[in-house]
Amino acid sequence: MSAALGTALAASCASCHDCGLLSRLPVAGAHGVRCPRCGAQLHGRKARSLERTWALVIAAALCYVPANLLPVMTVTSLGKRESDTIMSGVVYFLTHGMWPLAAVVFTASIFVPLLKLVSLVTLLISVQRSSSWRPVERTRLYRITETIGRWSMVDIYAITILVALVRLGNLATIEAGPGAVFFGAVVVSTMLAAESFDPRLIWDRSDARSP
Ligand SMILES: [Zn+2]
Repeated sequence: MSAALGTALAASCASCHDCGLLSRLPVAGAHGVRCPRCGAQLHGRKARSLERTWALVIAAALCYVPANLLPVMTVTSLGKRESDTIMSGVVYFLTHGMWPLAAVVFTASIFVPLLKLVSLVTLLISVQRSSSWRPVERTRLYRITETIGRWSMVDIYAITILVALVRLGNLATIEAGPGAVFFGAVVVSTMLAAESFDPRLIWDRSDARSP
């Protein structure tokens, strides 16, 4: 154990994930201890946080490629079939003057997932290198990454609006393409990755280094 100062774990304490109560652990880093107030299991730190976060980030990065290359939807209108990837959808909206929709889809489907992957990789590498570089900013980066995960769902609404527009406009059928499945996998795995990363690790390592 590192002799980190200023963390609850260094004082053999852990706070409950569910109710927030700070309890004393019988042994530092003990497992199977339950919160005396609500009965939830107490963890000094999330178990195997770095390994799980890396696995989910790599899975998300692998799914990000087909999510952008494969068609997310196929529209059949008057016997004509057209497949669209996320990017060709964005281009379609732009060329048809629907730039707010283009901006929403681009931000939610292309920019935000990429930003999440880059910031998670940055956090993982900095923690693994026991970096003491700007812990406050890195904690803030983690908080932003966790918060924008909810915005990934925005383009589900965008697609719903699109479907409604097409349905109103003419007789058409819309099928989800394989890209949509990979896109869903990217959203879910980046959300789980942000969830499994333990931001307290940022402080453990930087406190251990500082005099
Ligand atoms: Zn509790």
